[in-house]
Amino acid sequence: MCYVANQIEIDMPTLSPNLELNKCPHCRIDNPNLVEKNRLETRDHKGSRKRIWSTYSCVRCGGVVTASSNSVGGEVLEHYPENPSVDESLPNKAKAFLKQAFDTVHAPAGCIMLCASSVDAMLKEKGYSDGSLYSRIKQASVDHLITEEMKIWADQIRLDANDQRHADENAGLPEEKDAQRTLEFTVALGEYLFVLPNKVTRGIHRAGE
Ligand SMILES: [Zn+2]
Repeated sequence: MCYVANQIEIDMPTLSPNLELNKCPHCRIDNPNLVEKNRLETRDHKGSRKRIWSTYSCVRCGGVVTASSNSVGGEVLEHYPENPSVDESLPNKAKAFLKQAFDTVHAPAGCIMLCASSVDAMLKEKGYSDGSLYSRIKQASVDHLITEEMKIWADQIRLDANDQRHADENAGLPEEKDAQRTLEFTVALGEYLFVLPNKVTRGIHRAGE
């Protein structure tokens, strides 16, 4: 996904029994306990580019991270999934809320509120300031600022942690999967409204040079 870029870890981790990332790429917990489960060696078709790969599992969420290095105990050169970062072309407020939302996905109600604040900031930037988030998204769809499909998507996720519209959600409290879905929508909305238009503008500018 083009939105998600590499986030440089403060201290480059090594291929050790515990992978020391700042955050778990899945549940975003700080200083995750990522425990090595497997190790294998690969080379390219010419028999060179030797890499040692280890798979790690997050003790908290069970998510798997794969990391590679030139040697056991050596510096990790790549790991998947990477930690997400927020595109710089988003408006400042929307960007700040979205960054925090990524970091709180393990606290779903908080994450959803931050996503809603990010969506709110994006819509305000486009001149949609009045009414509920859903009514503004609906209006943005009527005005063709966003597609009808994006409005349908917005209807299927929770932009409000207290949203009781979905009959299949018995207790009402959002779960991590709800937060993930809301996060996905928020990222997509940001891409559609700001990131892609920005890329297109830059492309036209470069082509004209
Ligand atoms: Zn995790």
